[in-house]
Amino acid sequence: MTEEAPQLVILDCDGVLVDSEKLAVEIESEMLTAMGWPLSPLDVLERFVGRSDAYTLQQIEAGLGRRAPEWPARYAERLTAAFRAHLRPVPGVEAALDALRVPTCVASSGPHEKIRLTLGLTGLLERFDGRIFSATDVARGKPAPDLFLHAAAAMGADPSACVVVEDSRAGVEAARAAGMRSLGFAGGLTPREWLEGPGTTVFEDMADLPGLVTAPPPSGRPPAPRRAPLRQGEAG
Ligand SMILES: [Mg+2]
Repeated sequence: MTEEAPQLVILDCDGVLVDSEKLAVEIESEMLTAMGWPLSPLDVLERFVGRSDAYTLQQIEAGLGRRAPEWPARYAERLTAAFRAHLRPVPGVEAALDALRVPTCVASSGPHEKIRLTLGLTGLLERFDGRIFSATDVARGKPAPDLFLHAAAAMGADPSACVVVEDSRAGVEAARAAGMRSLGFAGGLTPREWLEGPGTTVFEDMADLPGLVTAPPPSGRPPAPRRAPLRQGEAG
């Protein structure tokens, strides 16, 4: 099979462009435990990473057994402070982006304000200005396909000619639902088994990204076995 460049590379933000997930899961774990719902950073990773803010708040209120209207502002305040002090690009991502020869855009579960903040703090914003899409732009967040299909349409790309780069289970599921090939980045917190599945190539080093973007899609291989969700009723 010959190499074929995709029309568009759609990049997740948190955990793919910016190294934000470790800061986020530690803060969420600490805050929820203090509020009366003891969750470890791994619990938080399993339950919330890659999901929209709306979904996360709904799950937190169910877990706490009460409304928590104070959560979004308090969490955003803590997270913003941590980002300003500690946020860095994902190791190797700038060189990988420099080597890509195809159009790119960002598609994140976070709101636009957060995406612009994190990309700005890490010096990546100018690369993507005007090509940033948020789950708040569409009806359903990841793992639904809406956000990736919206990004492809806005960028004038055929969904089947897009490649998605994701580090969360909800993200690779959204890519599959959108009919897009995906590259699952397991170089951060996410175990590679969470990303494996039909149409997904798992990788752990950003230096491999440019080559994987133009590599032919995996074919003739049976889908990897899906592991049961670690928490009943939790997919992402
Ligand atoms: Mg992510």
